[in-house]
Amino acid sequence: MFNTLYMISAPSGAGKSSLLQRILKKKLICNIQLSISYTTREIREGELHKKHYFFISKEKFQNMIKNNYFLEYAKVFGNYYGTSKKMIEGILSAGIDVLLDIDWQGAQQIRRKIPNSCSIFILPPSLKELSRRLYSRRQDSEKIITKRLLQVHKEMVHYIEYDYLIVNDCFDSAVRDLQIIVESERLRINKQQFFHNTLIKNLLNNL
Ligand code: 5GP
Repeated sequence: MFNTLYMISAPSGAGKSSLLQRILKKKLICNIQLSISYTTREIREGELHKKHYFFISKEKFQNMIKNNYFLEYAKVFGNYYGTSKKMIEGILSAGIDVLLDIDWQGAQQIRRKIPNSCSIFILPPSLKELSRRLYSRRQDSEKIITKRLLQVHKEMVHYIEYDYLIVNDCFDSAVRDLQIIVESERLRINKQQFFHNTLIKNLLNNL
């Protein structure tokens, strides 16, 4: 399989969702699709079932675990999140790269199963800015924000397991960094060799 699975992780408030939205809405990277995860968390205002997540019950999620439905799954902030094996295989075998918004536990599982996947960690420019972003987006209750802030350190220590690191200080630069990572990955010799197989054969054999 020569298409790539990109995993993006970050602590809450580092700006991961905004980065992904910008890339996808403005089509800044071609031939790439965001995977839609399954979760047992409650739907937030403005979110849509099947668009942002497949919102399902805990019972259904546990059944899907039993039936080996997930490529990876993890419990994050007390809720289950998981990636459909079938969805990822479908996207990659259609010749499209896939982007996964995933936590560090899921990223560890995927790295073991798909060693040539590419992982990117996003850090905020400071803890103060991270906290400001969490409060200003008004998505979660005070109680949930406090819970997320307590988790931040536990998540950030995993940055070292990733292939790339982006510090999201200037949003436009962070968007550009993400584009550059994907563009560079696509230029790797093994991928270029596969995608330009005929050209390379012609160039080398017809002198
Ligand atoms: P949120 O509830 O804010 O959308 O996401 C909470 C956390 O769950 C984020 O760190 C996000 O990356 C992670 N997450 C979202 N989807 C998945 C998934 O399919 N698998 C795993 N392991 N984590 C996920």
